This record gives sequence, C-alpha cells and structure tokens, in this order.
Amino acid sequence: MAAAGVLTSCAAVPAGSEKATIMVTTNILGDITRNIVGDAADVVVLMEANADPHSFGVSAHQAGQMEQAQLIVFNGLGLEEGVLAHIDSAKEQGVPALEVGVAVNPLAIQDAGSAGTPDPHFWTDPQRVVMAVDAIEDAVAQHVSLPDPGLLHSNAAIYGAQVAALDQWMATEFAALAPDRRKIITNHHVFGYLAHRFGLEVIGAVMPSGTTLAAPSAADLFDLATTVRDAGVPAIFADTSQPDKLVRVLAEEANVKVLIVPLFSESLSVPGEGAGSYLEMMRTNTSRMTAALSS
Ligand SMILES: [Zn+2]
Repeated sequence: MAAAGVLTSCAAVPAGSEKATIMVTTNILGDITRNIVGDAADVVVLMEANADPHSFGVSAHQAGQMEQAQLIVFNGLGLEEGVLAHIDSAKEQGVPALEVGVAVNPLAIQDAGSAGTPDPHFWTDPQRVVMAVDAIEDAVAQHVSLPDPGLLHSNAAIYGAQVAALDQWMATEFAALAPDRRKIITNHHVFGYLAHRFGLEVIGAVMPSGTTLAAPSAADLFDLATTVRDAGVPAIFADTSQPDKLVRVLAEEANVKVLIVPLFSESLSVPGEGAGSYLEMMRTNTSRMTAALSS
C-alpha cells in the first residue's frame, strides 16, 4: 500500500512527455481503443487472449493500475462479473469509467429465462461497434490528455470506416444464405446482436443464458437436442474460449449429423490464429458461419 501512495504522488505531477494510461477490460474493446488512440496513450488491456470475459479476474497490481488510470473503458451490461468491484472502487477514487454497452442502444437477451436482461455481447453487430467507436472517442477526448487531440478524431474516423466496411461485407455474406438456412444454435446467448443485424434466428443455446457461468440441466439439453433435430440445423457454434464438452454431449443427444464449429465469439486469439484483431475475428466467424450454414 505504501508503494501505491508513492505512485499517487508521481501521477499527480505528470511530466509533459509522460503518456496517459487508459485501462480497458476486454481484449475486443482493447483492440478497438488502441485503433482510436494509437500511440498517444498507453492502453492497458486486462483480459488475456482466449480468456472468458464472464469469469476473468484482475491481479492486485492491475487493480492498483485501474485506480491510477485517466480513463477505464469497460463493456458492462453485466459482462465482466469478475472485474466490476474493481471498476466501482476506481470510480470511487474519481477515475472516470465508460460503460460502452449502454452507449450502443443495447438489446435484451432473446431467451424466455433471461427476458428483459440487457445483452452485453454488442460487438457481434459491427453497426453497434461504430457507435462504440464514437463513444470511446468522446470519452477519451473528455478525460485523457493527449499530445495531439486532432489525431484522435482522424484515427476514430478511419477505424469507424473500416468497421462500417466490415458490416457491409458481412451483410453481403449472410444475405447469400437461403431463408431455411438461417437458424443458429450457439454456446450461450452470444450472437443475438449478429442475428438481429443480419437476419438470422437464434433457436437455442447450450447454456441457456447470457453468461457462460450458468450450467444447463439434463432437461435443457434434452429439449435443445429435440430442437436441433426438428429444425434440421447443420451446425452448432461452439466458442474457442470454452470447452466444447457440452456441445459434444448435445450433438450426441440429438443423434443427428451436426457439425461443431468453433467461433471466436467473445475473445481475441493470439495473433496468427484467426482472431488477432476485432476485424479479423469477425471475418473469420462470418466465413465459418456461412460455410457451415450453407453446407
Ligand atoms: Zn458471453
């Protein structure tokens, strides 16, 4: 704690050349924030590659860094359950925190059991990420001292245009699917925004909720197996950051030929594995989904 006190007194008198620190919870928002901020500030991302945003935690060192940051950027809407207490305590210390999810016109989780609960997985809809880019740009402009504030706006405009181009490409890809090929079953309710944006229908999830922390009952799996059979879905979409044991149980239970397709649904991978950036993650998922659904 003595060390933290020393850090506080350093931060109170920032040298002109010292970069501001922005703390970001998820690696998806970390990539987006880095594209907006560039080298003008240190963007520290808490969540490692391939981690589960519902369950990752922070170290004591990271918690201390959060309390010294000029800005915290987090997903919110209930996503980062393991980090929320640290965000609250940093806010009590006067650190501004942007809850990006509330700035992107969130949808409710499309599941009877979670009715009315806001769905945190907004990044699966690139149009909402364009809104997130604006929200992050505004928060950085308001709270973070930058050497060249004009660069912030041009970076955000360039990156926002890339996300908008991704959205158009995805729309073309999904539009090519036949109407009876638009039903999807996923690991948990992670693709509601993508389904809403591109005209797919989520007919079930292995974990019947908006979080990976809830386990399905045997009856849930039996019901879902029936849904898989009746709907004739060709594939179940698993998550690369989650064990796919339950998905395999479901596929066996359904007793039909069904592909298990791993997607990068809520975490970036390390570079070179298909989801080194948000844009790459979305392109990989779109290609895998459209290939599986049209097979
Ligand atoms: Zn999730």
